[in-house]
Amino acid sequence: MKLDVNVLRYLTKDEFRVLTATEMGMKNHEIVPAELVERIAGLRNGGAYKNMKTLLKHKLVHHDSTKYDGYRLTNLGYDYLAIKTMVNRGLIAGVGRQIGVGKESDIFEVVGEDGRVMALKLHRLGRTSFRAVKSKRDYLKHRSSFNWLYLSRLAALKEYAFMKALGEHGFPVPEAIDCNRHCVLMSLVPGYPLVQVKELANPDVAFETIMNLIVRLAQHGLIHCDFNEFNLMIDDDDQIIMIDFPQMVSVSHKNAQIYNYAPTTLGNKEESQQEDEDAEDDLRPVFEEVAGHAGSLDQELAASGFTKQNQEVLEQYVENAPEEDDEDDLQADDTSETDEVQEPSSSSFERLTIATEADPSTTNSLSIAGEVEEGLQKR
Ligand code: ADP
Ligand code: MG
Repeated sequence: MKLDVNVLRYLTKDEFRVLTATEMGMKNHEIVPAELVERIAGLRNGGAYKNMKTLLKHKLVHHDSTKYDGYRLTNLGYDYLAIKTMVNRGLIAGVGRQIGVGKESDIFEVVGEDGRVMALKLHRLGRTSFRAVKSKRDYLKHRSSFNWLYLSRLAALKEYAFMKALGEHGFPVPEAIDCNRHCVLMSLVPGYPLVQVKELANPDVAFETIMNLIVRLAQHGLIHCDFNEFNLMIDDDDQIIMIDFPQMVSVSHKNAQIYNYAPTTLGNKEESQQEDEDAEDDLRPVFEEVAGHAGSLDQELAASGFTKQNQEVLEQYVENAPEEDDEDDLQADDTSETDEVQEPSSSSFERLTIATEADPSTTNSLSIAGEVEEGLQKR
């Protein structure tokens, strides 16, 4: 996938306003009725429609007229809104090559105004579960836990909150710099994931460090849940850096045992289920005791705005997420998404210069939208 940020530079104030209006409409609609976009954008004389053309051309929105005339944001459209916010905040000045790609994320090198190179992770949750819902209902009445914008935003917030809290507790994680929508801005680790490293200078040191990390996490009541060579990086100074904790749970959490420590039992199903439950009961006090010693990170997490309810919604998603072969074609029309990571060439960054006064959320005529946005923030 390529993020051609050049588009950003040429979007007009009104085009951004329409893009933002589409995003706001998506709070309650999978496909936002054209009139609603028009109303939220508050542009006169069919202004929304006119501006929509450019957005469609750049694939920032998608037109859907199967049930009614409407639009939805594409991944790219959502990416641009988040990137623009970070540009406006003075944190990002350019986007470079893609350095990572996962089933539910894309990672890009970005550069700050001072020339500092950082990593921007774009979460893409709910790509799969979206379609299942799509066929059943269009209007997401019940708190849109299947809304990909919402899910991706929660995933990003969770990663940011954990990264920040872990960093504050001295864990070797990237520096959490900022979070907006589905994006997390963090420091770039100058190194490689362990999976790419053929030989370590000091394997015993690395081993010990890694084992200690698991213990220290447990002392804080945490289990990574995806602790492996893909999510541990080694930097130029041979330091181990832990990344990517979308499934991190507290050990006092009801499922903690299943993730890392569930005993495997043979025998008939009922029996093994019973044993599992017994084991859970046996282990829980131990976990809670360990967790109790150092205290959980709950407070720090809450400080970043990540709540227990947010965690529950994410868990629900993880539990109900369809298998990979349910992968839908929803995004096919969005962008030319390939699973290739671009060759590490000499980093080149697309400079971004965007007029900050073009931010529609600061203007009056967008008051309806403002309310909707506030609702969005609260969720
Ligand atoms: P995913 O959820 O897709 O697994 P990760 O956070 O594990 O996402 O990142 C995927 C890859 O991107 C990593 O294996 C690593 O190569 C690269 N990466 C992620 N974060 C950083 C970072 N802060 N600095 C450098 N590379 C990174
Ligand atoms: Mg990973």
